[in-house]
Amino acid sequence: MSTITIALSKGRIFDETLPLLAAAGIVPAENPESSRKLIIGTNRPEVRVVIVRASDVPTYVQYGAADLGIAGKDVLLEHGGAGLYQPLDLKIARCRMCVAAPAGFDYQAAVRRGARLRVATKYIEVAREHFAAKGVHVDLIKLYGSMELAPLAGLAEAIVDLVSSGATLKANNLVEVEEIMPISSRLIVNQASMKMKHDLIQPVIDAFAGAVP
Ligand code: ATP
Ligand code: MG
Repeated sequence: MSTITIALSKGRIFDETLPLLAAAGIVPAENPESSRKLIIGTNRPEVRVVIVRASDVPTYVQYGAADLGIAGKDVLLEHGGAGLYQPLDLKIARCRMCVAAPAGFDYQAAVRRGARLRVATKYIEVAREHFAAKGVHVDLIKLYGSMELAPLAGLAEAIVDLVSSGATLKANNLVEVEEIMPISSRLIVNQASMKMKHDLIQPVIDAFAGAVP
């Protein structure tokens, strides 16, 4: 029997994916928040879910360790998308990629002056492209989390990060100075799986497409 593996990350992507899976008749046997298992069965014997770090989802699908996955556009842009088919914008886990800086820092004036800016981010590729397109000179500093701390601690003058409500920026006296792009999560499919397991995968894509708001 042919089987399919779906790579998901815990947290908001898992929660917002449950209704989409349900539309495809797939119900995970356990919640990864309470279970320590990384491989989770479903009500359908031919379908299983693997729980991986959000930024590792494209890698699992690229190499065929998972046939399908759900990943944020932010993660896909950093990964590059090699070996992946991206049939659907699922419109879940929506937020925006933006530049933020301390409330007192005149970002626009610094850009007009042609100043060289130090920018801390987890999203080096997106940031590099954004500032290159604007002709802004930047030194990019790679971080893995808590970007908001960087300007407060004097590591950088600005950050590139994801924002939804803006509450975290506000709590750290930062303001959004530029939106780079809107972000949502995409369904991704291994290109070989798409051909070899078409009978199992296409109905999942169709059910997800029907359930996207
Ligand atoms: P980790 O927390 O393991 O380092 P992560 O921060 O990438 O990984 P999450 O915070 O669960 O993982 O984010 C997963 C995805 O959800 C992101 O890649 C992004 O697409 C989306 N996301 C992140 N932050 C927000 C937000 N504030 N609002 C809505 N969606 C978000
Ligand atoms: Mg996180």
